[in-house]
Amino acid sequence: MSEHWIDLRSDTVTQPSEAMRAAMAAAPVGDDVYGDDPTVNRLQEVTADLFGYEAALFAPSGTQSNLIALMLHCGRGDEYLVGQDAHTYKYEGGGAAVLGSIQPQPIANQPDGSLALADIEHYIKPDDMHFARTRLLALENTIGGKVLGADYMAQATALAKSRGLATHLDGARICNAAVKQGISLRAAVAGFDSVSVCLSKGLGAPVGSVLCGPKAFIEQGKRWRKMLGGGMRQAGVLAAAGLYALEHNVERLADDHANAARLSAGLRAIEGLQVATPQTNIFYVDVPPAACDALRATLARERIRATVGPHTRLVTHLDVSTADVERVIAVFTAFFKEHNDR
Ligand SMILES: *Cc1c(COP(=O)(O)O)cnc(C)c1O
Repeated sequence: MSEHWIDLRSDTVTQPSEAMRAAMAAAPVGDDVYGDDPTVNRLQEVTADLFGYEAALFAPSGTQSNLIALMLHCGRGDEYLVGQDAHTYKYEGGGAAVLGSIQPQPIANQPDGSLALADIEHYIKPDDMHFARTRLLALENTIGGKVLGADYMAQATALAKSRGLATHLDGARICNAAVKQGISLRAAVAGFDSVSVCLSKGLGAPVGSVLCGPKAFIEQGKRWRKMLGGGMRQAGVLAAAGLYALEHNVERLADDHANAARLSAGLRAIEGLQVATPQTNIFYVDVPPAACDALRATLARERIRATVGPHTRLVTHLDVSTADVERVIAVFTAFFKEHNDR
């Protein structure tokens, strides 16, 4: 049996490649709190340019970079419109409320991941002393592996703008959305006042996110980042990984999408599994609850990591090869052949 573990839990689990480590080792560094780190400065310039913004800020995590954006767009007693399933609302510890005194107004995500325009319109509160001030629309792309199309994004940001709202995009996986649609990174974020991009998901860097926005916004963002504990010193070793990732690992996301499609097709042939069709590198498989414990044990024995449950999320990434996908399909097929015969 191979010693190599196949890890389908998330695209955050990748190991920095030898070439990425070499770029990190060679990076010139300085104290970034003084603005002295040339590699951080270069990452910020390159990212701002790639996505079409005036400026950018390197943050240690996407959670922090989203929080900085929310705190820049909204003040105490303001609110932001956000999907019920959105990372900023659901998976960031309520940081906007706890640390920003910002009230979320969650809106049900449609099956395609979008927020219905009528719902957005409906939840914008009138200027009335009873209400929090609605300031911001925050969207996420991709969301649960689903792509919000460029047309929808244009409509949603136009609506927000017409109602005087700012717009923020949680673009943790915006590169997946752009590659899937065959559009430029600039086109994928068009219309948004700010975007947070994760380097540590499918792009394969060990750490970090970049917040892009207007110059004055990013200048003010440095203050919040310092307050939140995100002022880093010789961070160029980390920024170098991000630069390497942006240069080498964006176009190849198409391979992850192809591997997810291959995996889903292989699993769909198995009786008893309900398998969603992936749009990018993340998809869900409904596993019969009675099979979950045994499947979990089998996968562990076969050196396959997955968060098995009735609604199992599977994620492909740069450390999952096509051969790995074939092995996972074979293990699942053998397991269910035996399980279904019992
Ligand atoms: C991972 C992720 C983030 C932020 O992640 P960190 O783990 O804090 O870097 C934000 N939004 C989405 C959609 C994510 O998947």
